[in-house]
Formats: sequence, C-alpha cells, structure tokens
Amino acid sequence: MTLLVTGGAGFIGSNFVIDWLFHHDEPVVTLDKLTYAGNRENLKSLAKNPAHIFVQGDIGHTAQIRDLLSHHRPRAIINFAAESHVDRSLYNPGAFVETNIMGTFCLLESARDYWQSLPPAQKQAFRVLQISTDEVYGTLTPDAPAFCEDSRYAPNSPYSASKAAADHLVRAYHHSYGLPVLTTNCSNNYGPYQFPEKFIPLMIRTACARKPLPVYGDGLQIRDWLYVGDHCRALRMVLEHGRCGGVYNIGGLTEKTNLALVHSLCDLLDRLNPLHKDNPLRSYRDLITFVTDRPGHDRRYAIDATKITTELGWRPTESLDSGLHKTVRWYLDHKDWCEHHTTNAHHKGPHHHKGQMT
Ligand code: NAD
Repeated sequence: MTLLVTGGAGFIGSNFVIDWLFHHDEPVVTLDKLTYAGNRENLKSLAKNPAHIFVQGDIGHTAQIRDLLSHHRPRAIINFAAESHVDRSLYNPGAFVETNIMGTFCLLESARDYWQSLPPAQKQAFRVLQISTDEVYGTLTPDAPAFCEDSRYAPNSPYSASKAAADHLVRAYHHSYGLPVLTTNCSNNYGPYQFPEKFIPLMIRTACARKPLPVYGDGLQIRDWLYVGDHCRALRMVLEHGRCGGVYNIGGLTEKTNLALVHSLCDLLDRLNPLHKDNPLRSYRDLITFVTDRPGHDRRYAIDATKITTELGWRPTESLDSGLHKTVRWYLDHKDWCEHHTTNAHHKGPHHHKGQMT
C-alpha cells in the first residue's frame, strides 16, 4: 500500500506528507515539479525515512505519471499540485490553466487507466482525492450563509476559475467513468512551511524587518482561517471514510477581517518578539499601511463544515489564537528557511506581484 502525493513539496502538501508519515507506516511517493512554490527543504525531516520517496516531475507529463503508477502501485492519489496564488493568476493566468486544468486532466486520465487495470479488490479501494478551495464559490455578502457543498460555483479570479474547472473534471470522471474520487474545498490555511510571500508569513517577516505592513483596500475582507494541521487531519479522515464521489467543505469556523488578523499578528509579535525600548514604534501595529486593493478582490469567504462534522466527526482543534501563536513562533524560529525559500523562488522565476496574497 502506498500513497502518491502530488504537489507534496508545497505548503499544505508537505504538511500532509509529514503528518501522514507521523501517523502511518504506509509509504508515500511525493511528486512535485518544484516550481517557485515547491521546496524540498520542507521535507527535510523525512530525508532518512525509508517510507518516503521524492520524485521531481509534473502532473501534466502523462508518461512520467504512468510510470510512477505502474512502478509504485499506489492505493490513492492525493492531488495538491497547483498554481495557488491569486495575485500571480492575475499576471500569468496561462500557468494556472496549464497546471490546474490541463495537469489535473492528465492526472485523471492516467489515474483512470491505472484504476481500470487493477484487480477487483484494489480497484474498489482505490481513491483520487482532489484538494480544492472555497474560492470556487466566489464571494459572499456580509449576512449571506456560509458556503456549503451545494453552493453554486461562481469563481472570480483566474486561480479560482482554474480550480473550479478541475473540480468539474474530477466530478465528471466519477459520473462518466466511475473513477472513485473525493473532493475537498477548504478555506484559507495557515501554519508552518507556507510560501513566505503569502499573507501571514509576509506580515510576520515584514514586521520583523520593521517595514510597512501592506493591507489591501480597507482591510475589511473576511476570510475563514484554518490551521494546516487541522486540514491535514480532515484529509486523512476524508480519504479513509469519505463517501466515494463525495465533496467535503473544510473550514476553520473562524471568520476574521484581514485587518483584525494583522492586529492579532502584531499583538503576538509585541509579546514574542518585543520591539526594543529605544524603538520609536510603540507596537508593530504602527507599521500597518493601507495599499490599493487587488482587482476583483472577493469580500468574504466562509465555510459551512456541517457535512464533514456530522458525517466524519471532524472539527478543527486549533483556535485562531492558538494556531497563530504556533505559527508566529514557527516563523520566528525558522528565519533561515524563509530566506532560502524566498531566494530560491526568485532564482526560479520572475516575481510580478506586490503586496499580500490571501
Ligand atoms: P503551494 O503553491 O504552496 O504548493 C503547490 C505545490 O505544487 C508546489 O510544491 C509546486 O511546486 C507544486 N506544483 C505546481 N505545479 C505542479 C505540476 N504541474 N506538477 C507537479 N507539482 C506541481 O500551494 P498550497 O497552498 O500548498 O496549496 C495546495 C493545494 O491546496 C492547491 O491545490 C490549492 O489550490 C489548495 N488550497 C490551498 C489553500 C491555502 O490556503 N493555501 C486553501 C484551500 C485549498
């Protein structure tokens, strides 16, 4: 028994692989293209673990995927591989169509052939788990009910549109061919190993450099934050007990405006990394500056996680306060990781975006 985890050197994927091998003996093959967002250092703790194999490659390369499947004979594929940053999708939507739509299509085709070749018991047990986002549902008004699994798809950015297209393909492969799939749509994650230019690590690093903290627009965009460890546990539960063909929304049940989140981060930094008494700033909050909003910026996301809670018994264990505390501590203790990752990413390609990415 083996899992094939694609995109496993990225933020959530690497957390998932580490979490999986902490809880199970079952081996994992990680496939990752190592784009600017992928980082082998994220998996350094597994370097001596014989249950982990890393392969550099692309979900869109059919021959390579077929080889991997026939060689390792996984009982499941968990697909984290994606272009994942909204701001980048505004500048370079082609890469998102390529990986998120075409790449997922190629992966599904290879998975279908492989699944069809399996003996009956293995065929029955096989799963493809597609990791998706709440952004496929578009934006919510302040009083609208949170997104549930039946909410209408209304993606607003090239990123969310490409993820929505991938979700539709996954659904179609179940309905048309019977491919045993599962899809999860999750809210904003945070925690260790997140690409340093995403919202939370960016704010922590910028504050530590005593530079202005860029908050888009009025900062009143609402996001539902989930600690990545809680996401990984949800994915393990969906993989083992999720109903075949099912969709599960996963959320942190913690809606917060971006501005309130930055306030929390500043308050934590005031405690964990206090400013020198001679510093003219009284608090990290004094660094907050408002910058021009992102075009088409979704106002509010919120997840109704009733289904996964009632069907599978999952609920987040980390509160936003405890999760943020762990996260700030982790970034303060891993400044070298942030520097390496950022430098490597710059070597791998141009950085078009400015400001924050949520
Ligand atoms: P990430 O950008 O940190 O990681 C993506 C990984 O995929 C990287 O390691 C990258 O090298 C790899 N990759 C990219 N193109 C590839 C390809 N063609 N073949 C193989 N590997 C490729 O992203 P993340 O934040 O870890 O997100 C992982 C998944 O979870 C994505 O599908 C994303 O849409 C979804 N998601 C993310 C969040 C979030 O808050 N970060 C929330 C909900 C859903």
